[in-house]
Amino acid sequence: MKEKNNKLQNPLTQYYAGTYEIQQQQAPGLQLEMKPKPDCGEESYRGCNKLEGRKALVTGGDSGIGRAAAIAYAREGADVAINYLPFEQKDAEEVAKYIEEAGRKAVLIPGDISDEAFCKEMVEKAYHELGGLDIVALVAGKQVAVKNFEDITTEQLLKTFETNVFSLFWILQPALKYMPAGSTIITTTSIQAYRPSEILVDYASTKSAIMAFSRALAKQLAPRGIRVNAVAPGPIWTPLQISGGQLPEKLPHFGQSTPLKRAGQPAELAGVYVFLASPESSYVTAEVYGVTGGEHTF
Ligand code: NAD
Ligand code: MG
Repeated sequence: MKEKNNKLQNPLTQYYAGTYEIQQQQAPGLQLEMKPKPDCGEESYRGCNKLEGRKALVTGGDSGIGRAAAIAYAREGADVAINYLPFEQKDAEEVAKYIEEAGRKAVLIPGDISDEAFCKEMVEKAYHELGGLDIVALVAGKQVAVKNFEDITTEQLLKTFETNVFSLFWILQPALKYMPAGSTIITTTSIQAYRPSEILVDYASTKSAIMAFSRALAKQLAPRGIRVNAVAPGPIWTPLQISGGQLPEKLPHFGQSTPLKRAGQPAELAGVYVFLASPESSYVTAEVYGVTGGEHTF
């Protein structure tokens, strides 16, 4: 998608709507090896200083939805720290290049957020290297499809909950002391919180937990002038899906059963992550924004 994004466009054909080749990588996967590569707005996102001078930490910022948010934040004028797993260094370095090309500071913080001690270190590093912290976008997530419920291992269960849910506590508890009134927190739930698939019992459970977490925390932080909102993506073409998140045989028609008949691209979420981070959403908190191709959330 290289056209300027303010032209009249048909959403059915605005992004790739064909079938996908079956492909598999070991989790967490590398975006640069995907065919086709997800569109994270590298060529299309245009900012207009909606986040001028802001300081953002984005988990999962190397690829997929987090990368789209990180690029958009930088083009809107924010300095951006991204977290990712060390294996994803190559993807992360590409994102750093886009952040720097936007004239903003990029801070790379590889490490595993299923480790409480690392979460604290990451927050300290982000705060000190950015010189502040007023946007925390929690996008990292683990998703492993398992056909039979009895085959979900305790190891997978713990890692999925630690990564998707516990890390929110471990990151935001140390972060809040640095976050002034006006700061914004964005979490990432899923259509799976509303319409869980039979092969994602553990993952869908974490996504429901994230929704409750975000609404409860929003109420607690409202008196401090800090807003908390969640984004609920539908089927989006990202490394998560080709590294165990979907059954491989489902990949060719991924997203085609939505009313818009195609998978979404990460670039199509950038606007919502920007809106929820910016003062344009000043009266929005405890909200969940669906970006689902029409699979409505209710
Ligand atoms: P992605 O693979 O590009 O991003 C997920 C990221 O999570 C990885 O890049 C990795 O850096 C990070 N991560 C995973 N485990 C980690 C760990 N232990 N420590 C640190 N980082 C870790 O895929 P994505 O689809 O862009 O995923 C982003 C978020 O969107 C996830 O929370 C996912 O659950 C959510 N989501 C995705 C879809 C979809 O269809 N792609 C749908 C709904 C929700
Ligand atoms: Mg990645």
